[in-house]
This record gives sequence, C-alpha cells and structure tokens, in this order.
Amino acid sequence: MDLTEPITSLPGVGPKTEISFERLGIKTIRDLLWYAPFRYIDASSSTPINRLARDQEAVITAEIIGVKEKATARRRMKIIEAECQDETGTIKIVWFNQTYIKNLLVVGQTRIFYGKVGFDWQTKKIVLTNPLILNSLQILPVYHETSGLTSGFIRKIIKPILAQVDQLSDPLPESVLGQFRLESRSQAIKGIHFPINQSQIISSRRRLGFEELLFLGLQIRLLSKENRGASKAFPIPVDEVKRFVDMLPFQLTGSQRKTAWEILNNLNSSIPMKRLLMGDVGSGKTVVGAIASIAIAKLGSQTLWLAPTDVLANQHFNTLNELFKKMSYSVGLFTSNKKQADLFKNDIIVGTHALLEPTCQFRDVGLIIIDEQHRFGVKQRGRLKEMNSNNPHFLSMTATPIPRTLALTIYGDLDISVLTELPKNRLPILTEIVTSLNRSEMYHKISKEVSAGHQAFIITPLIEEANSGQLFSTKKSVLSEFKRLQEQVFPNLKLAFLHGKMKAKEKDQIMADFKDNKINILVATSIIEVGIDIPNATIMVIENADSFGLAQLHQFRGRVGRGLDRSYCFLSVENLSDKGRNRLEAMTKYNSGFELAEIDLQLRGPGSLSGLAQSGLPDLRLASLTDTLAIREAQLAEDMILKNDITPKLLEELKALAQTSHFE
Ligand code: ADP
Ligand code: MG
Repeated sequence: MDLTEPITSLPGVGPKTEISFERLGIKTIRDLLWYAPFRYIDASSSTPINRLARDQEAVITAEIIGVKEKATARRRMKIIEAECQDETGTIKIVWFNQTYIKNLLVVGQTRIFYGKVGFDWQTKKIVLTNPLILNSLQILPVYHETSGLTSGFIRKIIKPILAQVDQLSDPLPESVLGQFRLESRSQAIKGIHFPINQSQIISSRRRLGFEELLFLGLQIRLLSKENRGASKAFPIPVDEVKRFVDMLPFQLTGSQRKTAWEILNNLNSSIPMKRLLMGDVGSGKTVVGAIASIAIAKLGSQTLWLAPTDVLANQHFNTLNELFKKMSYSVGLFTSNKKQADLFKNDIIVGTHALLEPTCQFRDVGLIIIDEQHRFGVKQRGRLKEMNSNNPHFLSMTATPIPRTLALTIYGDLDISVLTELPKNRLPILTEIVTSLNRSEMYHKISKEVSAGHQAFIITPLIEEANSGQLFSTKKSVLSEFKRLQEQVFPNLKLAFLHGKMKAKEKDQIMADFKDNKINILVATSIIEVGIDIPNATIMVIENADSFGLAQLHQFRGRVGRGLDRSYCFLSVENLSDKGRNRLEAMTKYNSGFELAEIDLQLRGPGSLSGLAQSGLPDLRLASLTDTLAIREAQLAEDMILKNDITPKLLEELKALAQTSHFE
C-alpha cells in the first residue's frame, strides 16, 4: 500500500469526485486516511421498539414484515414504507424519495436501522424516517462534507482501504510506543474511522495526534538545520563589549548578560545564527541587540535593525545613538519618511520595512535584528528570505511570550534565548479594573501623578467615533476622548493625541514632546502598543479594555513600569461581560507575560497569541496546541528518537511531510 498514491487510484473516485475531495484538502491516500471524522454516531447497541422516544436518534434491530411503495397525495414524492417488528413491538419505517431502498428490504429478514424517531400525526404512532441500513451494530464516523461528497460516500471509500492498512509499517520505534503506551499506527487509523468502542476513539486520536506533534517537532529540529550555508564568523570583541557595558547608566541583569553571551558565541561561528530573543515587555532587549551589533561593527560589517513602525524606528534610532555616542560606530535611520541613513557607510541602520526595498544596497550586512518580527507582513518576510541568500545572522526579538513547550514545537528551528528577569528595583505595576463607579478616583490619581512630574497614556480602541450603523457603539475614540478630557477633566494639563492616520512628522513631534515631558497625558490608539519606552510615564489607562485581547493588554501595560517609580494600569470598562471578566481579572493577578500567555492559551487557544497567529500556526489535524501534556510527551519522544532511533525510513517520511520553517 502506497500512501502517496493519488485518491483517483481508488475504485469509485473519478475526476469529479477528485475535485470535491480536493476541496477537503484530500489528494492522496494518506490525506484520506488521516481525514478524521468530526463526530461519531454510536450505533453500537440497539433500542427495543417499545422503548423508543420521539426525536431521539436510535438504532433498532428489527424483522421486516411488510414493504409498500406509495406516492404522496399530489404524487410528487415517492415513499417506501416498511413495517418492522422486534420482540417488544412494531414500528413503521418510511423513506422519502429513495426508491432504491426497496431492493434492500426483504420480508422476513432482520436488519439494523439507524435514524431519527418521528411522529405520524395520522396514526398517532412513532415512525422512523429515512434511517440508514447498517450491516452490523457499530460506531459510525461522520465527516465534514462538501458539495458532491456526503459523509456516507466518504465512509464507503475509506472502509475498503482500511483492510490494507495492516501492511503499513509503524514509523515510531518500539521504544516510543512502549514508553508512551501508544497503539500502532494501523490500529489507530482503523480506530479513528471505525472504532469498536468509545475508548478506541480516544486512544486512536491520541496516537495520531502524538505522531503529528512528534513529526512537526522532528521536522523542525532536523530539517531546518540542513542547508543553512555558511555565514561570516564574528569573534567576540571582549574589550569593546566591556567598555560599552561599563558606560551604561545601569547594571545589566543576569539574564541580559547570559543572553548577550549566547548571542555573541553564536555570532562567533560560521553557522548562521537564527535566534529568537524572547523577553517580557521592559526586560531590556534593546541593549542585548546593541551588544550583538558591536561584534558586527568591530569587523566592519553592518547591522540592520528592523522595527515595525516609524515611531518605534525613531525611538530605537535615538536610543542606539545615545548608547553608541562614545563608541565610534555610526547609526543611521531609514524609514519611508526619513532616509537619513547612509546605507553604505553606517555601521548600524535602524529602519522600517522601507529597508527591505530591493533598491536598498548595503555594504556588507552581517546581522539582521528584527524587533517584533510577527508584525511584518508576508511580503516583507519574503524579502527577508532573499536577503538570507548572503547568509547574514538573524536575531528576532519578541515580547510576545510564548509558553516554552509551545515555542519548542513551533519555533524549534530557532535557537531561543529568554530574558527571564526584569531589571532590578522595578516595582510591579498595580492593575485595577475601573467602572463608572470609580472613574473619578482614577482621574484623581492621574492628576496626582502628573503633579509629581509623571505622565500618563490613555488608550482607546477607535480613532474617531463610529458613525452610521453603529449608533449604539460604546467604544471610545481618540479624538472625542481627547476633547472631553482636555475640556472637562484636565483643563489645566497639557494633553495630546496620537493615532496611525496622522502624518509621520506630526507623530514624531508628539512622541518627541512626550519623551521630553512637554505633554502630560497622551491619548492614543493601539499605535503605541509595542516597544515605546518612556520610563517617566507611570499611568496607563485602557478604555474599553474588554475589547482587547490579553496579549495586547499586557503590551499596553508594558509601556509603564519602565522606571524606578511605582506605575499603575487602569482597565476601564462600561460593563463587564463574563468573558471579558476572566481576562481582566487575570491582568490584575499576574504581571508576567509568560503566565498571561499560558492563561490566554487555555482561554482562547493558540490563535490568541498574537506572535503565533501571524507567524503561521502549523496545520494540525488531530493534535491541539493547547494540549500541553501531549506536546511535552512528544518532545520527550523526539529526544529519544534523535538519540537512538532515527531511521532512514522515518527521515524519508519527515521530508515528504516537511512544512516551511521560520525565516525561510
Ligand atoms: P524591551 O525588552 O521591552 O524592548 P527595552 O529594551 O526598551 O525593553 O528596555 C526597557 C527600559 O529598561 C529602557 O528604558 C532601558 O533603558 C531600561 N533598561 C534596560 N536594561 C536595564 C537594566 N539592566 N537595568 C535598568 N534598566 C534597564
Ligand atoms: Mg523593545
């Protein structure tokens, strides 16, 4: 049996059916066998006729005692009627417009019927309408259908191939099967389509899901490391790094030292670096990236530093300029509005996706640092892939904390460095839910903080008030909230607003003024979600907080608490729906992005982790990325296999299934 054969090699699958199957993503026999039912009909035991209840789906085993063919009053519909009996009673069974059924009904024979129990108003008796006729008591699979393909047809196509699956060898070694108590592949394939009992459904799904996770992990771990080519190796510039670190206005955290060291060592090798630097908001990723770029500059190569927004590119440019002031490295800025970098000369070039234009010619790119890579679109990632041909080293930085187990499975092709601690002396941010009841206290608190010299952010979900069609929208907008606050709440303070539709120049000016504390309160959209670093800001207000996801709320909150002073985050809501409540309460309880990500994963599934959704979740059929236990088990099995049991056959299968990996 060859799993890679197209389904057209099966009897009964012609070109038309092939097209329908393709809509379900099924092209090969493998696809078909792995096409799991989404539910089952339990027709494994029958109900005595006198115990049938209306509207129930039931199975009866009954003898046919009479068959009639009729037409409805207006002769539009053909009806087949069978009178059937078991030891407990009789029942009428009717089929509408299925005259072929008549040939299957032989008086005196006992058959099994599965269908819905209805009620005949004329005879005032229950009837069974349009039931399936089964050959045996069994659990029946129900598949997602598409036009031209019924579940029944899919069953008919799959059933005969299952007789052959015993020939399939199992790609998992005995050791793994034993250790994790998994059934064989052939057993599981049979069990998932035609299980003998309920527990076989569970064990078969588990086995195939396990295999799926294991393959995903192995593919990423084995294949992505092949063909990486060679990069320039950058020796660790110990003295420069020391000098740089000594000049910093703070001491590096242990985590920063450790990750910087990992990265420097990685750069000091001709194996191209593909590393993800994961660190909660405010953990100090920028400095770590800066240290990496020292090694590159030292050998006369360039570092490209990509930021997802203009505002952020500007900020990084300022920060890096400041950091490298006393070193002899030059920093340039390159966005669609500010092309003041010298792409040939500068040692470090900070920019947005404008840097990815094919017209940009550089001297010699040694390292590409990508801040919040998931915010770059598909097109830009394509361009990154091209630049990859010169094999620069890659460092991707993310504040979207991905639970460790998940990261290993999904980002297994990357090496991961994690900043596990925040800079010392940071006080945890106090987070509170605010409703109309305590809104005035919140404003009072803002006034107090501003009098003490601090600043506040106020986030709203919209730019302008939604107009027609959303008459009752209660979501706040930047423009009207700015007006209201300036006129009615804080007439004596300096307020400003910021949103994505403003001109780049205006945005820059506002950010610069806010940075210089010329603005007390900044009313903004989610534009300030990532990266913005204003340590003097101590208040974050999020209006309509229930309309944001947990990861996003955590990002907003991360804009404060970056200095030594106590910071506050107010989650403001009109009324708290039960769904939103869980999320907001989690925010008040946890300050760590990693903990919140775990919670989000359980509450809303992996699509909720913003970093993941955009980087393309693997297409899993049977496994679930929220099943952390299964993921962990699969990882243990991967380790076992990589150590002892990697067979050519398994490798071959992995290659056939290979998914794309990151950065490529
Ligand atoms: P993120 O990881 O969110 O990108 P940043 O790199 O922007 O964080 O750093 C957040 C703030 O913390 C910045 O103001 C930075 O100067 C400061 N910072 C970084 N490292 C340390 C440290 N070890 N001690 C104190 N402050 C630090
Ligand atoms: Mg950052």
